[in-house]
Amino acid sequence: MPDNESNPKEIVPKHSECIACGKLLDCSEFFNDCTVWRTHGNYGSLEFDPMSDSTVCEVVICDECLVKKSKVIRVVKRTTRQRIVSEQSFEDWKKYIKELDKKSQHG
Ligand SMILES: [Zn+2]
Repeated sequence: MPDNESNPKEIVPKHSECIACGKLLDCSEFFNDCTVWRTHGNYGSLEFDPMSDSTVCEVVICDECLVKKSKVIRVVKRTTRQRIVSEQSFEDWKKYIKELDKKSQHG
């Protein structure tokens, strides 16, 4: 893989394509209206398992697709890389956050 580790220079993408719908997203200053998803790969993948701390595979998902897919996206808390201590769908997590906001507004 070509890299510039001996002469590090930050590469800032100007645009990225949503992996779900293909919409072109403005990333010139920061990732607008989308989230960035990164993976270090994992044992078991036949396609991406570089076994390196600095190499990640990265995609963006627009906020609209995040909502559309909220039933299948998992929000998890981990104590370690492997151990999951809580898990819920992104849809349920959003409901939970809304409830917390309501409670904090009403004292
Ligand atoms: Zn999208």
